[in-house]
Amino acid sequence: MVTQYFSDNYFEARGKFLAAAKKSDAKIESHRNPNGAGPDGQDIYTDVAVFGDPDSPKILMIVSGTHGNEGFCGSGCQIAYLQKGLIQQRADDTCVVMVHALNCYGFANVRRVTEDNVDLNRNFVDHNKSYPDNVGYADIHHLLVPQDWTAESVKQANNGLAIYRSAHGVGALQNAISGGQHTHPDGVFFGGFKPSWSNTMLRTIVNQHCLEKEHVALLDFHTGLGPNGVGELILNGDFKQSYERAQRWYNDEVTSFQDGSSTSAELTGMMCFAFLDAMPADKLTGIAIEYGTVSGAEVLSSMRFDNWINLHETPDTDRWREGKQAIRDALYCDNDEWKEKVWARAQWVLKHTYKGLGSI
Ligand SMILES: [Zn+2]
Repeated sequence: MVTQYFSDNYFEARGKFLAAAKKSDAKIESHRNPNGAGPDGQDIYTDVAVFGDPDSPKILMIVSGTHGNEGFCGSGCQIAYLQKGLIQQRADDTCVVMVHALNCYGFANVRRVTEDNVDLNRNFVDHNKSYPDNVGYADIHHLLVPQDWTAESVKQANNGLAIYRSAHGVGALQNAISGGQHTHPDGVFFGGFKPSWSNTMLRTIVNQHCLEKEHVALLDFHTGLGPNGVGELILNGDFKQSYERAQRWYNDEVTSFQDGSSTSAELTGMMCFAFLDAMPADKLTGIAIEYGTVSGAEVLSSMRFDNWINLHETPDTDRWREGKQAIRDALYCDNDEWKEKVWARAQWVLKHTYKGLGSI
């Protein structure tokens, strides 16, 4: 049963990850997030475990929790990779670097966003330049984040979103909602006004481990898009310099929003820019593994509700608990069948990544 590798909360996941990594002779670095804490004020950490010689010509980086509580899934896969001995099966010329709970604040507090309400996978833009435009978001912000969260107010807001969809099309609505925005810090899919702590941390890790390498492979675990239990492989690198290679590695199963094949919106500021800003684009083959959970409408609703309780409620209220449960369930299916599917895909992906790195 794979279910033992998954955890009920961030702290349990961290304990399991560190124990499994130590058993596999990892060199571990723990980075405390100085800007955020756990729900009871605990210290929280992004942990980096290095397996093998850091001077190896090839690096495989495996990341969980870029989107906070999507880490329930990614952490489980990282721990299973370790416990089942699959990391030990890497080639001699490959060093594996695991980043556990990149957005540790979100994982610990069951939020998709960081301590500054930032969607980390929209935060890797150049903050010294003008931000990418998302004019559509401003039109619907008041609908996504209504003043009240009652059955009636949500229904009205959803009607407003349906009107926008009729006028502009499904794709335009999806891009407006989830493409990323830099105008409403209290909104959803906010890309931030500056690099978040987790952004700076990832850049530090990349600079430490990925420069001047023959090749770097990147697996970043996500949940919440697509059909239940299916792991869509979305290109997480430069389209021109890596799409064809990624297709070769992964049996032509890779999708990209750049050619319209992905269920994802057109994103800006993805985490792969931590790599692309530091190394040649043709040296990176990256994918995001995006596992489907519940319907897109339920995922979005849970994120909006979570945003709302963080603006208007305190942790001791029933509404808060209701909101927490909703976003937990929307991004993590806590049942054996789903976890088995997730794990089967994760194994397949690792096998193909090793083979791909071997072909370089
Ligand atoms: Zn995600």
